Amino acid sequence: MASAATRATALLTSLRRTPDLHVLDSAQLETKLTSLLQGGGGDLSVTADFDRTLTSAGSVSSHGVVEHVEGVFDDSFQKQALATSQHYHAIEIDPKLSIEEKIPHMREWYMTNHALIVKQGITRAQIGEAVKSPKLTFREGALELLAKLGDRSVPTCIFSAGLGDVITEILRHRSIVDPSIRVVSNKMFFDESDNILVGFDNDHLIHMFNKKQSALSADERAFFDRPNMILMGDSIGDRTMCDGVSEDTTIIKVGFLNDHVEEKLELYKGAFDMVLVNDASMAAVLEIVEEALKQASPES
Ligand SMILES: [Mg+2]
Repeated sequence: MASAATRATALLTSLRRTPDLHVLDSAQLETKLTSLLQGGGGDLSVTADFDRTLTSAGSVSSHGVVEHVEGVFDDSFQKQALATSQHYHAIEIDPKLSIEEKIPHMREWYMTNHALIVKQGITRAQIGEAVKSPKLTFREGALELLAKLGDRSVPTCIFSAGLGDVITEILRHRSIVDPSIRVVSNKMFFDESDNILVGFDNDHLIHMFNKKQSALSADERAFFDRPNMILMGDSIGDRTMCDGVSEDTTIIKVGFLNDHVEEKLELYKGAFDMVLVNDASMAAVLEIVEEALKQASPES
């Protein structure tokens, strides 16, 4: 097999033909690709946001899929959830407040919202039905990518400030079940018969400002700890999901820019190594992963 550097050059040339792909610093990307190809599958891990990254730009979210279960979530829930969201979103984006000042409010937002959901008395079976919603759509190629990562035992962190049990159920419904694919997100508690939702693990909240590897337990961090990582996200904040990993880790950051493309493209190009617009497919990421997973033959 050719050297990693030669393969990286060829891979980058091929990637550049991907429609809707923007790269600010090709030289830096090529260096990172070289490291990735040198390490191969055994040195690789993947960290991916869920909503509008693995799912498509127009998909309903993990929250949305549950909050619209007919006959469970009534009008008063929708009204209260909307009022809560409006109140706390204003704090989330307030330029006068620091992240540290915002965090207690974000925790309060999540706990308020979780309490509202618990009050509806939703069952595990209803969640199991809800995840079949046709409004929940994956990005083209995302399920194929996850299946490949699972088959080749690449540690994969699906990182979300949404609802972990719902995401796990969504994936199970699409036959994505593998010990190397772990959902790191907010956890629900059900009653003793494992039927009705009774609470959330509010001691281990994942919200928009702590969605980083540094928020994980040492064991979880060790599981995903590999010299080369691919990070995928659609929010600008997702670029820091791997914060907390060893400093010498090579991280290829892939950003999916789903809206306000003209306005935000330069910002995203500065934040991610690769930016994909227009609800692009996972083809480019799949190509990188497949190249990294190629085994060198013994004589090469
Ligand atoms: Mg997202």
